[in-house]
Amino acid sequence: AKKISKNKTYFYSSALAHKVKEKLKIVELLQKALLNDDFYLVFMPVYGPSGRKITGAEALIRTHNDVLSHYTPDVYIPIAEEYGLIQQIDELVIKKAFSTLKHSSLNQNSGFVLAINISSQQLQNKQFANMVYNMALEEGVQPNQIEFELTETALVDFDQTSIDIIKQTKEYGFSVALDDFGTGYTAFSQLRNFPVDTLKIDRSFTSNIDDSGVDQGKMVDVILTLAHLYNLNVVAEGVENHEQLDYLKHRHCDSYQGYYLSKPVQWDEMLALIHNETT
Ligand code: C2E
Ligand code: CA
Ligand code: CA
Ligand code: CA
Repeated sequence: AKKISKNKTYFYSSALAHKVKEKLKIVELLQKALLNDDFYLVFMPVYGPSGRKITGAEALIRTHNDVLSHYTPDVYIPIAEEYGLIQQIDELVIKKAFSTLKHSSLNQNSGFVLAINISSQQLQNKQFANMVYNMALEEGVQPNQIEFELTETALVDFDQTSIDIIKQTKEYGFSVALDDFGTGYTAFSQLRNFPVDTLKIDRSFTSNIDDSGVDQGKMVDVILTLAHLYNLNVVAEGVENHEQLDYLKHRHCDSYQGYYLSKPVQWDEMLALIHNETT
């Protein structure tokens, strides 16, 4: 028995070593991709209450680097956060998103809102609001065209500093959304004091609405009730079939995104989708 447990220890530590090695490989790939400007954005359309009209989009990071592109942002963004590369990545994403919006044929008064994911580490960056405001001025983007998405994990250690930074960002006219809402339960009680405009229902909750249109997890209802109580906008993520869309529409969700409506696409492709709605 002793021998087995010894082997086990060996197995676990070698698996750990392998993991660390892979992480460091990813760090190196991220640094290289930053140097070579190897990142670009795709855009996932967001649909309004009817589920038919595109009212905005979420920018999602992608890379041209062949090796790095084997990993999803879910894998490399947390590593970038851990190894001090996220500030550079966030700035690059914001810059690319702003310049895409500026150079597009979209009318500034169209009401179109572009959502940009940022690391919750920005909630400790006192320069954040000023920085994004200056970038918007430089690019000629109106703050009301932009919504910053923060993941709910940020709320776990949210403090006065983070609240102040969100408030400042909103004072400049940007909106702020809480991403993956419901996956970190602390937010339920803190929501009352948290100055956000939008809640995004996590894909895991949307996927609990089954083929017969029953919400097996009951979380979607709870989140919608809570959000409407606090007058917050709700976006449902991960809508993959019409039963889910119907369910959400009946319960007055405000916006939807998911593979059933559209996958993330190139900017021009999204403009074409918008154009085809009206012609
Ligand atoms: P997220 O912000 O929750 O983004 C939604 C993710 O779910 C995207 O994956 C999107 O492609 C995927 N998704 C959306 N609808 C569906 C659906 O109906 N079915 C399925 N199966 N998947 C769907 P992606 O692009 O791989 O991004 C993963 C995560 O990486 C994001 O989660 C976000 O946390 C992070 N991320 C992505 N881009 C950026 C970025 O530019 N900056 C930062 N800081 N984080 C980013
Ligand atoms: Ca997001
Ligand atoms: Ca999300
Ligand atoms: Ca996420």
